Amino acid sequence: MNLFHSGPVPFQATRDKNRIIVENRYIRCVHDLEHGGELSEAVIKNGTGKNLFAAPQSTVVGIIENGAYHCYRSSNSVQTECIISERNGNPVLEFRCSLTDDSGEILDGLEMNHRVEYTRWGEGRHRVALISARRVENLGMVQIGTLRPVKSMNCLAVQETQIQASYAYGANNVKNWISLYAGTARSDAEAYISRWLPVSMLVLQRGVEGFQFTLGDQLAQWDAIGGTLPGFQLGYFAYRRGFDSYEMRFSALDCRREGQYLEGENIFEFSLAFPFVREKIVPLSPCASNILFPSRGLKQRWPTDDDLKRLKGAGVALMRLHNDGNTLNDGIFWRDAAYPPYPPEEMAKMDDMFHRAHEHGISVVPYFSLHEYHPDACGFPEHAEEWSRIAAEGDRIIPSFGPNGYYGYQMCLSSGWMQKRKDTIDEVLRNHDFDGMYFDWCVGLECLNPKHGPRHRDFRKLLELLEWSHDRAGHDGELYLHLTYNPNIAAENMASLVLTEECGFSSFSGEMFTPHAHFMNIVPRQVCDMLPSNASKEDRLRYAMCALLNHATVSSSLPVYSDFYRENAMLLKECTDYARHSAPGEGCCTSSNPSVGMSAYWDDAGSMPVFANLSNTEETTDYFFDSHCSKPVHGQITIPPLSLKVLKFQ
Ligand SMILES: [Zn+2]
Repeated sequence: MNLFHSGPVPFQATRDKNRIIVENRYIRCVHDLEHGGELSEAVIKNGTGKNLFAAPQSTVVGIIENGAYHCYRSSNSVQTECIISERNGNPVLEFRCSLTDDSGEILDGLEMNHRVEYTRWGEGRHRVALISARRVENLGMVQIGTLRPVKSMNCLAVQETQIQASYAYGANNVKNWISLYAGTARSDAEAYISRWLPVSMLVLQRGVEGFQFTLGDQLAQWDAIGGTLPGFQLGYFAYRRGFDSYEMRFSALDCRREGQYLEGENIFEFSLAFPFVREKIVPLSPCASNILFPSRGLKQRWPTDDDLKRLKGAGVALMRLHNDGNTLNDGIFWRDAAYPPYPPEEMAKMDDMFHRAHEHGISVVPYFSLHEYHPDACGFPEHAEEWSRIAAEGDRIIPSFGPNGYYGYQMCLSSGWMQKRKDTIDEVLRNHDFDGMYFDWCVGLECLNPKHGPRHRDFRKLLELLEWSHDRAGHDGELYLHLTYNPNIAAENMASLVLTEECGFSSFSGEMFTPHAHFMNIVPRQVCDMLPSNASKEDRLRYAMCALLNHATVSSSLPVYSDFYRENAMLLKECTDYARHSAPGEGCCTSSNPSVGMSAYWDDAGSMPVFANLSNTEETTDYFFDSHCSKPVHGQITIPPLSLKVLKFQ
């Protein structure tokens, strides 16, 4: 059975004079009452162990004076009221302060209430209320929760709002992973800037640590500044020379035009998610993929004992039953949210499969789409319109086309679909011997369906569903998540396996993947098999080696991969003895020969560099490894064609 399971890790809050310390096994956050109660410190204990931020977080209101902003900041407030309480075992902090300029002058008639709840899955859920006793005129800028990430961060992933999306019916996907250069490159000056607010920004030091700022589900909150202008917002991430750090801004308003104001109560919600970076390198999960073999046709699609024996020999511990499309054009497939999925004889084969897979120590989970509803499934005609996700003003329910028909229609979790999805998941788990769930469309979707309220996203609903699923699957149950283009730190903290990289590539190298393939040491990770069906055995071997350099496995049960993992079982086992891993392109490992990729595992006791020769000939390379916190090693090594080689240093 699977080697890795996550569990909830609640925070504890304590007060030490003017500091509120909120801590669990993986994370320590500090709120400073001399700075408006703002978050002044966030430490990932198994990351660098250093503060992610160069200055306290701050909410800033800019009043236009002589064509410039006169800025009043929450972090300048030295008089802060604070209440610590608890909700469902989560610490809740509530701060009340005034906004103050750099000379100590208070912005008259405006008060800020700031509530933060720390969840058992690594999030701080923030709610900032700006309460105006008068109309605050000449308003130019409203920044909510501005942060200054330290310059060791080297990668930024932005999820833009639907209006900027690449695809009309997409899911706020990350388009580009933006490299950051600690201010040594011009591109850092405005690594990201937009007049539209993105729904999320995730910043990380690759392979080590990071955090994710995500807007709350009520996106319309951020569009609600009073006045006559259409709402000029600012999403911004840049290196600021004066601060010698990055600055991340989510501004509900940034425009020096008159006519804008704050009045009454304005509420803004966002979350900060921090990773559960584990003490030891997480185990690899070879070949976890579809338990069915559809290419053999309907009669032979269930695994034989020989298949299961081969997979077990490769160290396979988890598979998914993935059959959401009419691939064979026979109408026998698992329609999203339908039950039972198959005619009786296929149901009998499915139940027999659990028994045999478990005998081989392999867990099996069913495929569920969290956002698709098949038109043949129960309740569709009555509820689909009401529960549907609408992506554009005036648009209708969105079909999701599959082979020879539909996967379903897109649904929004901020509707009755949430309960329907829970009920249909529960029905499957109640009736069969599955070991958890596999979730596709594991994303938050922006939605304009007026039946669910004004402009919103179902990201918080998604996390609520994942949390429910984790509880439903139980401590040893599987939560196997497909997250391509949608990195989600809180979801990763819950998962037992993450699948990514369902996207194309140009050539084989250790750097062929996005930074999501070697993200942070949170959860075992795998990449989709992106190779065409007629790819050569050699290319598949290259692909498996490139993935392994990123401490990831390939999601495929093809024999070439199972052979690869069986042959490298020792490496797969030994790498988890170490605490750190560095992938190609992250600056620690250098190989002089471009045909030879290099990664390294290490900890205080020693290091284990891994070399992959991607060429068809024997290759020699000079290598150098410097983790900046263990002993540097260098030398020369010769590696046979299409092979791995491992060295060990004490
Ligand atoms: Zn909706």
